[in-house]
Amino acid sequence: MNKFFNALLLLITLAEYAQRSEAAVCDRITCRLPRCHCPTSRPPAGFRPKDTPQMVLVTFDDSVNFNNIRYYEELFPKNNPLRNPNNCTIGGTFYTSNIGVGNTVYHHIRKLWDEGHEIASHSISHRSPPSWWDQATYNDYVEEIVGEKDMISNQARLPPEEIRGMRTPFLQIGGDSQFKMLYDNNFTYDSSMLTGKYSAEQIHNTPPIWPYTLDTPPENYLCDITPGNCPRRPYPGLWEIPLNRMYGVDGKACGMADSCRTTTEEDTFNYLLLNFLNDYYNNRRAPYGVYVHATWFNRKNRFTLGGLKKFMRYINRMPDVYMVTSYQVIQWMRQPTRLADIKNFQPWKSRRQQC
Ligand SMILES: [Zn+2]
Repeated sequence: MNKFFNALLLLITLAEYAQRSEAAVCDRITCRLPRCHCPTSRPPAGFRPKDTPQMVLVTFDDSVNFNNIRYYEELFPKNNPLRNPNNCTIGGTFYTSNIGVGNTVYHHIRKLWDEGHEIASHSISHRSPPSWWDQATYNDYVEEIVGEKDMISNQARLPPEEIRGMRTPFLQIGGDSQFKMLYDNNFTYDSSMLTGKYSAEQIHNTPPIWPYTLDTPPENYLCDITPGNCPRRPYPGLWEIPLNRMYGVDGKACGMADSCRTTTEEDTFNYLLLNFLNDYYNNRRAPYGVYVHATWFNRKNRFTLGGLKKFMRYINRMPDVYMVTSYQVIQWMRQPTRLADIKNFQPWKSRRQQC
């Protein structure tokens, strides 16, 4: 009897396990572009890395105000000499919160938009403690994220449908409350989930992950700072642009580029370049993200700003590197285009980018 009971228990456990692992595995046969894409470290559409453009995302979080706009103007000057190889100006993405290190001044947002950058939502209040965002309800997320989208659209006079993405404050994702809010309100993507090993020695086995859709709820390693808060339900066609961890000179991981410590301009440049080259030469071409806050530039001698500028100038000389916005990455994912044809890829030649 006991044996029978044990065997039954084992069967039930196996069945449960099968069910759970079934839920966690993205089906590569049915999940096809342009609507669906499984998490992977390989380029889409079977492209070889050498045929794949290397996309670089430069993004800035929090409010855009009288204090920090000068940094942005310095990074992206009028008549910017930094142009992508298709001869259009480079673009960044601003995850904007209304409050958070000063209030956002929306005419600066309008100006950034007019110059070809993308604006996304990073909440109205950016409130503390960070754990508030873990526990926030669906209605809290609507109020904060859709609310900020409305504010951007009304006050900077942007077409509301052009605000397509979000990032959670402190990267504290809010499970199904957050992702259902995005899905119900026709957002295109989230970019809040951190992934990657915690130390540089381990990274050879875990190359960076390409953007993917949430048709299948992500496995815990894809949202590992608060795995309990990974979305558990599917959101077909909603994209995730993951934040692949970076590594400081001490080998320790940091979530966003500005949380690894650097001490000089040269040091900052080397750190950004080494992380970039590490991804570039691992030969997978996943988009490389430099995710920072303007507060990073408030250092003595502003050496971090100098380091970032130098890095952007350096990679701008590479014929296969494109500094594009978050939504432009999604546009490419939906319609993968080889390096040989990329100069004619229309979504990367918006009128605002003065091609
Ligand atoms: Zn923030």
